[in-house]
Amino acid sequence: PNVPVGSILRAAVRRWGDRDAFVQHDLPLPYTELGARAHAVAGWLGDHGIGRGDVVALHIPNCRQYPALYFGIMLSGATFSPTNPLLPAADLAAQLTDAGATALITWDLVLPLVRPALAASPVRTVIVTGEAHSLDFGARLDVAEGDVDAADLLGGDPTDRHLDAAVDVDADLAHLAYTGGTTGVSKGVELPHSNVITNALQSVCWSNGAVPELDEHGDVTARQVAGTDEYPVRMGTARLINLTPWFHAMGAVGFLNGMVMSGTTVVIHPRFDPAKYVEDMARYDVTSIGGAPPIFVALLQVPSFVEGEWPNVRGVSSGAAPLPVPLIQRLQALLPNATIGEGYGLTEVTMMATGNPTFRSGTRKPGTVGVPVFDTEISIRSLEDGAEVPQGERGEVCIRGPQVMRGYAHRPEATAESIDADGWFHTGDVGILDEDGYLSIVDRTKDMLLYKGYNVFPRELEEILFGTPGVAGAAVVGRPDEEAGELPVAYVVRKGDDAGAALTRESVLEAVNDKVTHYKRLRDVVFIDAIPVSAAGKVLKRELAALEREKVG
Ligand code: ATP
Repeated sequence: PNVPVGSILRAAVRRWGDRDAFVQHDLPLPYTELGARAHAVAGWLGDHGIGRGDVVALHIPNCRQYPALYFGIMLSGATFSPTNPLLPAADLAAQLTDAGATALITWDLVLPLVRPALAASPVRTVIVTGEAHSLDFGARLDVAEGDVDAADLLGGDPTDRHLDAAVDVDADLAHLAYTGGTTGVSKGVELPHSNVITNALQSVCWSNGAVPELDEHGDVTARQVAGTDEYPVRMGTARLINLTPWFHAMGAVGFLNGMVMSGTTVVIHPRFDPAKYVEDMARYDVTSIGGAPPIFVALLQVPSFVEGEWPNVRGVSSGAAPLPVPLIQRLQALLPNATIGEGYGLTEVTMMATGNPTFRSGTRKPGTVGVPVFDTEISIRSLEDGAEVPQGERGEVCIRGPQVMRGYAHRPEATAESIDADGWFHTGDVGILDEDGYLSIVDRTKDMLLYKGYNVFPRELEEILFGTPGVAGAAVVGRPDEEAGELPVAYVVRKGDDAGAALTRESVLEAVNDKVTHYKRLRDVVFIDAIPVSAAGKVLKRELAALEREKVG
């Protein structure tokens, strides 16, 4: 659609009106009010010379004012560049500089940590918000001289001044997003408005069974093609608790834009408090739950969730990391009326490329990440020579579609290496397409181990570990070995039950090694309290691999 991202908000305000868009601390933010606050933010930015071509970094946790600030940036024509509010100062300085951010919206509590990063960055305008604004957009903060109180933006009069600032949807960046940095240095990804609006639509159409449409104002909407019988939740009726950070692709595109587009009421939980999560599931009678797999792993450890009855939960969406089949089975048993859809994507494709069908009569194949979203193609290429491999064989997953990024910021070589002349984006993930076109992610090329010249994919071993009684979590990494190259080693988290207590190194080795060919066998098991995961919910294998390297010296 040839419209800027701000259209998502305008269409939502007209369509969903007084329905609650977001709720935090039991305080609702209806769509109309969200629209008014975002227009006020855009007005302030425009009045202060911030608009098209400027990069505004948003360095705050999920909170009630986040959507108003985000859509304010969109309406002003400026570029949104989100950062993890827990980034160490040196990394923040590097990211702000790489992004060329001239304005930064930050959180009062982290300001002392942020300040040292600013001197070495291009940031000239510092806007401060905090918990006080989550409760009251007009609350005055005690800001340092020269800083701006975000109440000036959030509490201002809504205006149409500077709106959309003649945005060029194919050329102007809506988002300058950074990859999760799971496997290495995080890279800036350039996403024009056309990328973001298309992928938000693709995700809404995936989860709500809708078709993309422009309304009579030229604003983007998604028209639902079926009712609640076929699709888990009808648009404009869903209620969801969101933990996914909005500074990550899945958060910003799926759980912010996608939810606004589909008229969902989003209950904001900035951090995972299991008891409160389950309490709010009941209190808000949620219809949908979603996020990265660690959320579901954790929920299954909460007695009130496991013992509760959840007939109204009709949709579960997972993404960002593999969702092991045993986990899907446990969830399905507790959520009998839910359709469990797993999506797959990367920051480089805005967010999403494939998903298991969410409509009820669609065939979901657990363990796969489903089929491409509309307008998207998948091709599997040989890891050796780059040629397309025959169906059923492993190779690098390549994606082509309107959601593929323009490129990496300031990294022309990396861009040329990842997007080929025919527009295929090479993901660095290893996958297989089955005879029906369903994609399975085998592993990431960077996580693949080499044992005596054989490729070992840790994910295959992790799936078996997840199905082993007593195992709450697991990750397999390589231990450097002079003779073999790398030895597969499992890091295992015990469940709190008897089966967990009974696990031994030998019993785990046996459970896995009986099921795999010789070269894939686990060579050691290390018990650990928790598997390190990133804020986006991805296992930080490089931290475990570093432990293994240290052992070897
Ligand atoms: P970096 O590329 O900087 O290391 P990152 O990989 O964390 O960071 P993201 O764009 O956040 O950057 O993550 C994309 C990756 O997440 C994909 O390449 C894939 O490996 C993984 N992923 C996403 N969804 C799924 C899924 N459903 N199943 C398996 N893996 C997934």
